[in-house]
Amino acid sequence: MKGNETIPQYVARGRALYDKLLSIGHTIEEQEVVWSVLGGLPEWYMGMVTTIEANAANGELDLDDIMAKLMIVEQRKSTKFGEVEAYYAKTPVKCYKCGEEGHIRCDCPQKIKHEL
Ligand SMILES: [Zn+2]
Repeated sequence: MKGNETIPQYVARGRALYDKLLSIGHTIEEQEVVWSVLGGLPEWYMGMVTTIEANAANGELDLDDIMAKLMIVEQRKSTKFGEVEAYYAKTPVKCYKCGEEGHIRCDCPQKIKHEL
């Protein structure tokens, strides 16, 4: 997996390779592509890879299924780095000082004005 690649891009690359191999007459199972994709992931996905491997006994894996699971990990990772930004982007905030939406009391323009 390349440094700035996202999970959908990475899985799409695996799928493209799979389609290409099929089109040139290789007999390859989707399972084999799944394992190659899992094997190329950075270490912070290893927890999820272990979970996927454990569940693999219950049935066959496909690329859509692992992509959905890996995207959960990807989202968690980006949340960790951009936690504050994500919080303000997703949660409508309301100021308890002036009652306006879009900022919190600590950032209230009225408070700043008052303190200046
Ligand atoms: Zn305010």
